Amino acid sequence: MSFSYLTITQAHHGLVTKQFSCIDLVSYYLKKIEEQKDLNAFITITGEAALARAKIVDAKIAKGEKLGELEGLPAAIKDLILTKGIKTTAASKILANYIAPYDATVVAKLKEAGVIILGKNNCDEFGLGSSNETSAFGPVLNPWDKTKVPGGSSGGSAAAVAADECVFALGTDTGGSIRQPAAFCGVVGLKPGYGRVSRYGLIAMTSSLDQAGPITRTVEDAAIVLRVIAGEDANDATALTSEPDDYLAGLSGNLKGLIIGLPEEYFKDGLDKEVEAAIKLAIKQLEALGASVVKVSLPHTALALAAYYIIMPAEVSSNLARFDGIRYGFGSALAKNLAEVYGKTRAEGFGAEAKRRIMMGAFVLSAGYQEAYYQQAVKVQKLIKEEYREVFNKVDVLITPTAPTPAFGLGEKAADPLTMYLSDVYTVSANIAGLCGLSVPCGFSSKGLPLGLQILGPDGAEGLILKVGYNYQENTSRHKQHPK
Ligand code: GLN
Repeated sequence: MSFSYLTITQAHHGLVTKQFSCIDLVSYYLKKIEEQKDLNAFITITGEAALARAKIVDAKIAKGEKLGELEGLPAAIKDLILTKGIKTTAASKILANYIAPYDATVVAKLKEAGVIILGKNNCDEFGLGSSNETSAFGPVLNPWDKTKVPGGSSGGSAAAVAADECVFALGTDTGGSIRQPAAFCGVVGLKPGYGRVSRYGLIAMTSSLDQAGPITRTVEDAAIVLRVIAGEDANDATALTSEPDDYLAGLSGNLKGLIIGLPEEYFKDGLDKEVEAAIKLAIKQLEALGASVVKVSLPHTALALAAYYIIMPAEVSSNLARFDGIRYGFGSALAKNLAEVYGKTRAEGFGAEAKRRIMMGAFVLSAGYQEAYYQQAVKVQKLIKEEYREVFNKVDVLITPTAPTPAFGLGEKAADPLTMYLSDVYTVSANIAGLCGLSVPCGFSSKGLPLGLQILGPDGAEGLILKVGYNYQENTSRHKQHPK
């Protein structure tokens, strides 16, 4: 039995049929992480604890006890998600040695299901970025081409899945941070609708937009993980109280009668020709599976990015205010009085992008500018929500590219924040409007870089977008190719 690129179902099957032990499985991934250290996908590796957990799982198998679907399966967690007793840095110097006293609900749920944590993934600092280049721990390299970025902010998680360093990973998505890196690394990324998954224990970036979700090799795996992490949580008042669907059971069934909307605003200037061709081909394949396609218009799409880059920094500036050198993590050794503790700690502890967003956020919330910027952005957000609500009266799902281009070069956009922000143009709307979104690999550029197809659905339609993605993968083979 080969270990390479096991899906959740395959890894589970291998364990219960004793084709390999849990120790073998964990050792395989630890070796892959070690061999590919240059990718820099992990900030912390918890090898010893993982092997100790594997031993317990093996003992259970030896006794003939039944294993849960995720039990004994090695996964990686974005370092923006709290893990009790394991360092959680948010990829920031300001939290470089922070050890969380409790698990995020998503982590607690995975642990309860028996998942083994291999370590914590590198990401953009506090999730602020689209390329993983804002991490205080260095950039992550794209496993398909090490001169390219893996995307961000969950770049380490997507690279780890693509490079076979874990069975699956958990990321967070505030403006595209699960979907865009999944597209750049040729894996599946799911952002649940707002509230479907608890935010308790995610280091808050933009509390009104943040969601955690799975990064996996297949849509089926994403459905399995979502079922485990979704649901209400007494610790998060925004977590939905309605019972999540049985996402796995919902995958079966064909696409006959499905109406796909193609928003014309997503296929305009700035869209790479190869990305466009790959999406169009995928749409033809979905039509062949029984779906019908209609063109729709979402005129406020262009404003979504502008609204996002006001609402997001406004909340970032408030959320990051708690890192003051007293309550958490790093404190400057140079401070001589309280004002200097705050000032120097934040000056030394935060990277350039975090500072930029704190300043933008403080500005758009400041007296005299709040009405002109923040209040306006919130009004635009309402219009966008309304527009999507109307479109979803006519269509079941929307299909768009996940990103306007394939993975760009390391350093290519790092010095130009505006160009970097534009790479989020197709993903932010889902967060602004609270939709669910799935990125599925849909082909390759002529240079061999993976491309992603985005499936967007209304609030509560995770099951439907997963079903569309699953049907696509069952009838195509693009997700079965791996980096050399
Ligand atoms: N790339 C986007 C940003 O820089 C999204 C980040 C995210 O979803 N965490 O804000």
